[in-house]
Amino acid sequence: MNEQTAPSVPEETVPFQQWPKVELHRHLEGSVRFETAWQWARKNPALAHLEQEKLRRLIEFDGVRDFAHFLGRFRVLRQLYTAPDAVRQVAREAVEDAALENIRYLELRFSPDHFASHAGFDMEDVASWILEAARAAAHDHGVEVRFLLTIARNYDFQTASRILSIALRFRDLGIVGLDLAGNELMYPAEPFVELFVRAREEGLGITVHAGEAGTAAHVWEAIDRLGAHRIGHGIRSADDPKLLEELRRRNISLEVCLTSNVQTGVVPSLAEHPLPRLLEARVPVVLCSDDPRVSRITLTDEWYNALQLGLSVEALTHLTMQAVEHTFLPADEKRGLRQRLAAEIASLIPGRPS
Ligand SMILES: [Zn+2]
Repeated sequence: MNEQTAPSVPEETVPFQQWPKVELHRHLEGSVRFETAWQWARKNPALAHLEQEKLRRLIEFDGVRDFAHFLGRFRVLRQLYTAPDAVRQVAREAVEDAALENIRYLELRFSPDHFASHAGFDMEDVASWILEAARAAAHDHGVEVRFLLTIARNYDFQTASRILSIALRFRDLGIVGLDLAGNELMYPAEPFVELFVRAREEGLGITVHAGEAGTAAHVWEAIDRLGAHRIGHGIRSADDPKLLEELRRRNISLEVCLTSNVQTGVVPSLAEHPLPRLLEARVPVVLCSDDPRVSRITLTDEWYNALQLGLSVEALTHLTMQAVEHTFLPADEKRGLRQRLAAEIASLIPGRPS
């Protein structure tokens, strides 16, 4: 660490909760407060018989470190949305939670199908409820929010195509990108290539979950075939020096989510996470939370986890500023956000040049 810019407080006592943060990889699906899930589960006969602790074990991390098992949480969470108000409440509370840990800029991603399928809502209606509720909460709590729509790899082409149409139709309401998620080991990305190429041509930001449970080859596919600007996780890139070089050369960032990777079993432990190797290779990295309420963590917790991996406070502030460059905002809005964050960080670190 550069002595001149060192913080004046010991790192273990840094109140990260108060630090301004940028969150670029957070699923609305995994941002449901347990109390809210419980409230809405009472209204669905398929879930209403469950005792509280049983419901908790079904929708939160339950200690089983397995990728498919972790994804299974979302099959239960889907069943909560029996009324439009459930969708609106979850969207509002996700933004409130972000505000509580001083996330200043949030790219919140969601699949309209996840919230629509149980009750048979129209996906476009669902998207409009979410955008409206989240934008109102963002206004009330001083969080800047943008949205990415998620296509899951197991969707049929028609559903995926419709999600892209909704993304393009609602751009004025803050949709800035398209995401591909789901089980990369079971479902190839190839059927969706033309949709992602089109989305990129239309000016949407592209992020693809790849190299998480899969391999570096999935990351190559994401950047060469789907035109990804960012990679969800992408931690297996650490196995491929050529890929690391390519990510650095093209300035493609990896959205690294430490706790999620441990809970899905794609890394054996936090201590063995490849984040330090990725940083050593000078690949752009942004630190993110993935599914905070499923994982029972916050982005703040992930900052402390990064400290445990040897990152300094200085490195974490650098990652925050770097995250601004990798948002899907236009250049002028990035500039404004960069200035506001730099000023706020400077006020937290006496002596730090802003
Ligand atoms: Zn994710």
